[in-house]
Amino acid sequence: DMMLRIEDMGVTYPGNVLALRPTTVDFNKGEFTVLLGLSGAGKSTLLRSLNHLVQPTAGKVVSAEFGDLDNRRTVRLHRSRTAMVFQHHQLIERHTALQNVLTGRLAYHSTWRSLLPMPRRDLELALHCLERVGLADKALARIDQLSGGQQQRVGIARALAQQPSMILADEPVASLDPATSEKVLGLLRDICQEDGITAVISLHQLEYAQRFADRIIGLANARIVFDAPPADLKQHH
Ligand code: ADP
Ligand code: ADP
Repeated sequence: DMMLRIEDMGVTYPGNVLALRPTTVDFNKGEFTVLLGLSGAGKSTLLRSLNHLVQPTAGKVVSAEFGDLDNRRTVRLHRSRTAMVFQHHQLIERHTALQNVLTGRLAYHSTWRSLLPMPRRDLELALHCLERVGLADKALARIDQLSGGQQQRVGIARALAQQPSMILADEPVASLDPATSEKVLGLLRDICQEDGITAVISLHQLEYAQRFADRIIGLANARIVFDAPPADLKQHH
């Protein structure tokens, strides 16, 4: 059940840097896909092209819901349903967890809405998202008072507040210790499973990919070198 397809899609950066060779891949509804590869392999480029944060220079991205991402309207609609989680969370450090989650929600409202008082249902949704990542009691704590793992969980709550059908996470645990990384990845996978959210996560640790992924896409030198369930990677390796 296709959710998003890249079709002969490739990315060449200015200066003729080939970051992703033209390739065709279907991302399926509800699947938890890990992009695995060393630094420079092209993971981030592929991930960001999925919502046109990076503009493909060949081929195209097709959303099952909205069609070809070949115009601003379609890209905007697709982005409104696609949440991002970053390595360095990109939260506002001196704001509270709750404020950060609300900001994520309001970013997708039109300008005139942001001038009105906060609707109660937005507040309730934001609190509910913090509850789901186990941080209900930290709603009013400032980001800079939270641990790295807690900050990343706020990042996940902010993504959830967007009520996405897809989550793109670029190296979400790269700056966390192993125990915290496992907790954060487990949480992200469980939430995506519960809500039927399609997830694409870039990682560079094979162990985490094998433990959490439904599907692993291996990248090396701007090319997909592997695309299969984790069990197959074990044999292959
Ligand atoms: P990864 O996420 O696997 O580390 P990237 O997608 O970030 O890989 O990078 C793939 C290749 O593209 C690398 O050779 C990198 O140096 C290059 N690259 C990434 N971003 C840019 C950019 N904005 N301009 C030029 N080259 C880039
Ligand atoms: P290593 O032997 O250290 O795994 P490789 O060059 O074989 O180094 O792998 C490069 C990267 O791709 C590593 O991050 C590794 O985890 C991952 N990887 C290893 N085997 C495969 C495979 N069969 N397909 C895709 N990625 C792989």
